[in-house]
Amino acid sequence: MQHPNQALDEEVDLLIVGGGINGTGIARDAAGRGLSVLLVEQEDLASHTSSASTKLIHGGLRYLEYREFRLVREALIERERLWRMAPHIIWPLEFVLPQSNSPRPAWLVRLGLFLYDHLGGRKRLPATRTVALDRDPVGRGLKPGNPKAFVYSDCWVEDSRLVVLNARDAADRGATILTRTRLIDARRNGGDWVATIEDTAGQRSVRARAVVNAAGPWVADVLGKVPDARRDRGVRLVKGSHIVVPRLYDGAHAFLLQNPDRRVVFAIPYEQHYTLVGTTDEAWQGAPGRATIDHQETTYLLDTIARYFKRPVLQDEIVWSYSGIRPLYDDHATSASAVTRDYVLDLDTGTDGAPMLSIFGGKITTYRKLAEHALRELTRFFPGIGPAWTADATLPGGDIADLDVERYLATLQRRYAAFPPPLLHRLVRAYGTRAERMLGNAQSPADLGDDLGAGLSTREVDYLRVEEWARSAEDILYRRSKLGVHVPPETAARVDDYLASLING
Ligand SMILES: Cc1cc2nc3c(=O)[nH]c(=O)nc-3n(C[C@H](O)[C@H](O)[C@H](O)COP(=O)(O)OP(=O)(O)OC[C@H]3O[C@@H](n4cnc5c(N)ncnc54)[C@H](O)[C@@H]3O)c2cc1C
Repeated sequence: MQHPNQALDEEVDLLIVGGGINGTGIARDAAGRGLSVLLVEQEDLASHTSSASTKLIHGGLRYLEYREFRLVREALIERERLWRMAPHIIWPLEFVLPQSNSPRPAWLVRLGLFLYDHLGGRKRLPATRTVALDRDPVGRGLKPGNPKAFVYSDCWVEDSRLVVLNARDAADRGATILTRTRLIDARRNGGDWVATIEDTAGQRSVRARAVVNAAGPWVADVLGKVPDARRDRGVRLVKGSHIVVPRLYDGAHAFLLQNPDRRVVFAIPYEQHYTLVGTTDEAWQGAPGRATIDHQETTYLLDTIARYFKRPVLQDEIVWSYSGIRPLYDDHATSASAVTRDYVLDLDTGTDGAPMLSIFGGKITTYRKLAEHALRELTRFFPGIGPAWTADATLPGGDIADLDVERYLATLQRRYAAFPPPLLHRLVRAYGTRAERMLGNAQSPADLGDDLGAGLSTREVDYLRVEEWARSAEDILYRRSKLGVHVPPETAARVDDYLASLING
């Protein structure tokens, strides 16, 4: 079917395939350097791996064991930088690492943490300290055992919101972001690319100077849509799952739990009432797509809880679970846990010099550096392109003085005195200073339209639709927010009905 907009005959510098963290991060960086950018995402922004992570901005203590010093150093430096860029959705988190059940001697763990503290970039986060779990409040809820534990810091990130904010900033700088739009094929043509993209209205072609393949688990699939693509690099697909259970312990800290198989599992405070527990590491043999937790993974995570916490959790207490597929660069490691978490950028210029850059692997934590590296690879095709600029540039809503979100919230509470503090807290954590753009001159919650559940107003849905590409209840309840774990099931239908009324009305 011919697309009604084909007459536009789009022509851009960069066509980016994939609206996960890597695609949107590159789109933002490129748009800010003056390139014209079109990003296509076949579903919703962050609908795959980038919404299914453990949500940590971390160096990856575990990777020190695999001697991934380059990756750990880069990630550690990025930690505080990303926190400064988006303090509303990224904040420090303390991790308690108990030595009970540890398959590693305490001196080795301490040595790893010493490196972690000193490899680079730590200015505001506290250094590691040692605690006795039988005396320190962070030991509450744990089974008795070796009381020695280490406490170190990393950061938490609302992963899917980080993706959306990168897309928003890219669009504010001129990029076009098309969700529910798939790349069908791409061909080299006289030093440029001609690509076919498809949305519900049909197919159309786009001309681009360069293509970025940021399709995550589909990176090889996208290479298959390009007739003369080089295919000498591959991805290893590794599934990881998390469960959400009623809160296991009091306190704002997380735990890093070591298992006898040397794997580690995180237990993290989640959405006030819950604890997030994950992840597993399982080879994924099928085609990329939607993954769900299996019985073996559930048992593994519940066994970990039972190993460490006084109160075990039963299967039917699991409130929610999610799974994602890591698109790891295939370094031919023997086990899924040992495959490198570092990234590889592959530049293929074909015979006529039309560049295609494919992204293999990566972490949310390193997305900004990955984008800088990607742009460096592409610079020679775009003489006159601007310099790197993202290191100190806040993301939308992140311009909060001194990273002091609580103080900003107090200011907002004075201005919007008739609003319930928990609602303002949620809005500030989601939108930062852009909460004011959404609230406008509303005097009370009634001015925000109908409440569709848990304080989600029709005004907020409008904002998410116009500013953040939300098109369905799932986009809103599980990616733009995590209201899905709080609201009754009928809220999803109400949100979908409201969205449909906007399209039909
Ligand atoms: C269980 C788990 C835990 C993790 N924990 C962490 C963590 O705590 N911290 C951290 O830093 N990293 C973590 N990661 C890693 C991180 O999540 C990934 O590295 C990152 O999200 C990958 O992003 P991406 O953009 O490459 O892929 P994706 O987010 O999968 O994006 C690729 C997108 O491309 C789209 N696409 C594919 N084909 C097409 C096409 N033909 N046309 C248009 N669009 C297409 C897909 O729909 C998809 O949305 C974790 C990963 C997993 C699975």
